[in-house]
Amino acid sequence: MTLRLFNTLTGQLDELVPMDGKALRMYACGPTVYDYGHIGNFRTFLQIDVLRRTLKLLGVPVRHVMNITDVDDKIIRNAAAQGITIGQYSAPFEQAFFEDLEALKVQRPEQLVRATEHIPRMVELVQRLAAAGAAYQAEDGSWYFRLSSFPEYGKLSKKDFSGMEDGARVDLDEYEKDSARDFALWKAAKPGETSWDTAIGRGRPGWHIECSTMSMEYLGESFDLHAGGEDLIFPHHENEIAQSESATRKPFARHWMHVRFLLVDGRKMSKSEGNFYTLRDLLLKGYKASAIRMALISVPYRHQLNFTFDGLAEATSAVERLRTFHQRLISTNWPEGDTHSTAGDAQAVSEAAETAKTKFRAALSDDLNTAEARAAIFDLVRAVNTQADCGNLFRREIPAILDALNQFDSVFDILEDTDAEPTRRALEYAEQAGRQADVAPELLARLSLSDEAIEALVAERATAKKQRNFARADQIRNQLAEKGVVIEDSKDGARWKRK
Ligand SMILES: [Zn+2]
Repeated sequence: MTLRLFNTLTGQLDELVPMDGKALRMYACGPTVYDYGHIGNFRTFLQIDVLRRTLKLLGVPVRHVMNITDVDDKIIRNAAAQGITIGQYSAPFEQAFFEDLEALKVQRPEQLVRATEHIPRMVELVQRLAAAGAAYQAEDGSWYFRLSSFPEYGKLSKKDFSGMEDGARVDLDEYEKDSARDFALWKAAKPGETSWDTAIGRGRPGWHIECSTMSMEYLGESFDLHAGGEDLIFPHHENEIAQSESATRKPFARHWMHVRFLLVDGRKMSKSEGNFYTLRDLLLKGYKASAIRMALISVPYRHQLNFTFDGLAEATSAVERLRTFHQRLISTNWPEGDTHSTAGDAQAVSEAAETAKTKFRAALSDDLNTAEARAAIFDLVRAVNTQADCGNLFRREIPAILDALNQFDSVFDILEDTDAEPTRRALEYAEQAGRQADVAPELLARLSLSDEAIEALVAERATAKKQRNFARADQIRNQLAEKGVVIEDSKDGARWKRK
């Protein structure tokens, strides 16, 4: 099965296969580390994680490079305002970014590269563009890309720039969506700003040249896929294409993947609207990292996700259902069953597991349709639970079901409960940042009991039940429920979990 993925450049679904026949070479624009990442940023990184994992599931090796933009207008401005270097300013945000990715179980790319560690290579690319007649130096010493030298400009964003004004310039990293201007490749040093002394003068790189340089450095001048959020199509990715193809005269990335923006409660997420959330904000409200992952990947990447707290509650119970199902499968002593009389049922379950796997892969191969992929697994969960409830589930059927579940989890990655650690770190962050007031009371209540204390209460309840002291047993159950701990009785004893 081959992945068919929408390609912004061609405007259609194209097969995504490695052009060198070995590994899929992909570059994803990483974060600009000037603040904590918000859930819109993480939706993009999570959907790229879904892509990576799907390729691996389909047997395609991946070589994934991601940059860290640790020098740009915002970083320079904020560092200057605090009187510290850009490195001192960006380091904590870079660390926070990696902690957040880990919380969300986003796999690390094969290679992570920092802009500030590639300045000489960026300078060489500017020189190469100048030699090709595609770059010029302005009066202030800054270097600009000459847009009129690249007639294909606009081919990614499908914008028509034929009427553009020749020689008009813009030196901002991010600018208005409809202005086509000669853009800055290298910005001459301004007093008090971070700068590097180089062969093209003292200054610092523009944002776009960073990505052209680092992607081609590690993946070659032509590679398979370039990915990012939809806000990067113009001008960032359009400019990357212009720079790279003007220098090499070769096609840059063949395939372009863009993840759509999310809305929050139907509106654009913004600080002024009061609907702006970082990952940490949600963890402090008591939501689990696994549920946030589930919510952000369940809507396919080209669809607009409307993020709501109802949706997050739904994702929470979806994760819970799958974990309970998995636990039930592995911890129940399933009957052997009489081979003769149960052969038909066994076949039905095995077939359901096989169908679920096929549908799961087919959905992901079809432009990463995570919604359908997820539905295929929940269909299986329902079917198996029905059989189990009627006493029609047998030991020999379990491996096929577990196999389907494991395939699902190789992409969704929510079965293993590692939610305590991100929450613990978020609380640590709240303390350091003086944000204790933002911690949800339910979360504090949930955490006020240690695992050992819960074990002790569960054991005491078991004793109480044995002594037919049901009042005490119920009292303990309620006490635990108030702290968000649920007890489940089975014939093998009581299990507990935090809600
Ligand atoms: Zn980029």
